[in-house]
Amino acid sequence: MVDGSEAAILGGAVPSFEGKKIWVTGHRGMLGSAVVRSLRNENAQLLLTTRAELDLVDQSAVQQWMEKNRPDLIFHIGAKVGGIHANATLPADFLRENLLIQTNVIDGAKRTGAQKLVFVASNCTYPAKAEQPIKETAQLTGALDENIRAYAVSKIAGIEMCRAYRKQFGCNFVAVIPPNLYGPGDNYHPQHSHVVAGILRRAHEAKESGAKEFVVWGDGTPRRELLHVDDLADAMKCVMSAPTTHDLYNIGSGHDLAISEIADLVAEVVGFNGKIVYDSTKPNGTMRKLLDSGRIQSLGWAPKVSERAGLVSAYKDFLRSVEVADSGLRLG
Ligand code: GDP
Repeated sequence: MVDGSEAAILGGAVPSFEGKKIWVTGHRGMLGSAVVRSLRNENAQLLLTTRAELDLVDQSAVQQWMEKNRPDLIFHIGAKVGGIHANATLPADFLRENLLIQTNVIDGAKRTGAQKLVFVASNCTYPAKAEQPIKETAQLTGALDENIRAYAVSKIAGIEMCRAYRKQFGCNFVAVIPPNLYGPGDNYHPQHSHVVAGILRRAHEAKESGAKEFVVWGDGTPRRELLHVDDLADAMKCVMSAPTTHDLYNIGSGHDLAISEIADLVAEVVGFNGKIVYDSTKPNGTMRKLLDSGRIQSLGWAPKVSERAGLVSAYKDFLRSVEVADSGLRLG
């Protein structure tokens, strides 16, 4: 399908988005909305569907929609996601929904002749004890972290689907692996959120209630590489527009922090001066997963948002979400 197309002639590059029909799946989530923000000035036609309009799990609905709308470029972001606790309690949901969604969108992209698709995977697809920093070639070389295995297997299947469709059909499908994301539009659910949102919420609640301490899960020693969502959106545009000779790109900030350092930084940004307590009955998860982002850097991308500045803007977003919830418009 791609043979003879513009993207194939350009070695997988899409130098201009002008006039293209671009489908961003999951555009209401944190990453999807960041990608939409970053595409606003591109003179492209954005195709955005809410879950009520198109349920990505529904194969025939997705097929019909794609045949009718024929997107040129697809940022495939829509997926069931959640933090370490959500993954531990809902593994079947994560596996089932993500396998269905990916199959529908990726196969649909081939059937309807999309020029290029960029699929978002996850750093949990790497072996739990991978050599650091983790290169793309480490995938499937060791056992996965058991806390998030079902979700990880679904994302590995998505990466493998992009790879297989490239190989068998010449499709221009590429997967990217981000580290731990945070930023505006994050999910601040007390149990189901990722680490930054979870800690932000508890630090804020402790400050507001005048509590002397707040709780951080695990023992504080695991390390996580944080990336602001606007940096990932920028990197995904770079992968979409560049000639991509690889099928997989890590997209990281290049350095990681201990959970205790993240908690200290969040407490400082929030203005909480009390004690931070570690709850070792909660899982640590993988001890370290720093990405080697050499491939994406060689395409000319580099992150722009520092952790401190990023956390300040994330906290402002959290405060806005609390205000909205308090005014009864949305639950935080
Ligand atoms: P992961 O990177 O896939 O493991 O996902 P998370 O974003 O959920 O990060 C989990 C790591 O952060 C583990 O080491 C947790 O013990 C630690 N952590 C500390 N406090 C929290 C919290 O409030 N929420 C979450 N999700 N993780 C936390």
